[in-house]
Amino acid sequence: MLSPYMKSRMGELALIDQIRNSFSTRSRHVVLGIGDDCALLRPPAGHEIAVTTDFTLETRHFLRHTHPPEAVGHRALARGISDLAAMGATPLAAFLSLALPADMLSSREGRRWVTRFFSGLRALARRFNVPLAGGDTSESPHETTGSLGLILADIVLIGASPANKGLRRSGARVGDILYVTGRLGGAAAELAELLKRQRLAKATTSKDHPHLFPEPRLAQGRALLKRSLATACIDISDGLSTDLAHLCRASGVHAEINQAALPIHPLARRLKPQATLEAALHGGEDYELLFAAPASTRIPKSLAGVPVTKIGKIARARARTPLITLVGTDGSRIALTSAGWQHFTREANIRD
Ligand code: ADP
Ligand code: MG
Repeated sequence: MLSPYMKSRMGELALIDQIRNSFSTRSRHVVLGIGDDCALLRPPAGHEIAVTTDFTLETRHFLRHTHPPEAVGHRALARGISDLAAMGATPLAAFLSLALPADMLSSREGRRWVTRFFSGLRALARRFNVPLAGGDTSESPHETTGSLGLILADIVLIGASPANKGLRRSGARVGDILYVTGRLGGAAAELAELLKRQRLAKATTSKDHPHLFPEPRLAQGRALLKRSLATACIDISDGLSTDLAHLCRASGVHAEINQAALPIHPLARRLKPQATLEAALHGGEDYELLFAAPASTRIPKSLAGVPVTKIGKIARARARTPLITLVGTDGSRIALTSAGWQHFTREANIRD
């Protein structure tokens, strides 16, 4: 829609054209993509529709002077794909709502940023077979704030999962074992390094950059669903301590985590020991899957090429006991409070 702030309709149309030309909308599930008032999707028979939406806001989720635009585009889409992965769903289509400051369309530098943002988004969309089927475009408001305006994006992802089989947070049972995919703490470690340097990172492609280019565990979530391995699943985008508490609350159980068993990302190993542990437990944005499975279920050592590690177990919830107990390397038992990192601000920590 033409916002009252959008001075140039041509700017908006050219941008939508650029988007239409940059992204594939071809898919057997997209009957009609960009160009009409609505997109038309055809979900596979016998499936339920999974919907997730994620904001990407400049200064909250990324900083223009540290995050390469490709990484901003990649991360914007990775978050929704990770949510679908956690339910075992398959993406059908993505929708991008984008608000840009006016100077991003009028300056060379601004247009370059936008093109690079699309290229990061497109690379991930291609790899995970996610057609971009529509969105909305607006000029980012700035008149009242006096600033230049912020880059704001929201991605809605539509997915499909076999009816009544979608993985949920609520299915964990007493006696289940807890597992996590991949390694923990890498994203927090890379972000800390970025914020320390205060320079634009050079990385423009996805290898080995857990914060800038997280890899959603779509195939792993699919495998858990298809092979009926998990009783409950969640992605740990907000940090293990926070997301495990969500799973415990939803399932009405208590969890016990074994510190010595935590698979630590090599980047987090470089931190001081206490910081390593904090990055792994509370760092967030690792986009790994945390799942519970009955002790009798054989869980493979890896799923679709990604290691799976047993990190603890589910126990009975009792009144006045914490949701999560951390068993230290010396056998000590402490209550683990949720301290997931809310983006760039320590002040905004979530505390139970
Ligand atoms: P309307 O005014 O009817 O909402 P728009 O002019 O906003 O339509 O959009 C025209 C077409 O372009 C629609 O199909 C819409 O989904 C698509 N579109 C607009 N902005 C974006 C975007 N940022 N990304 C993808 N598609 C977009
Ligand atoms: Mg519109």
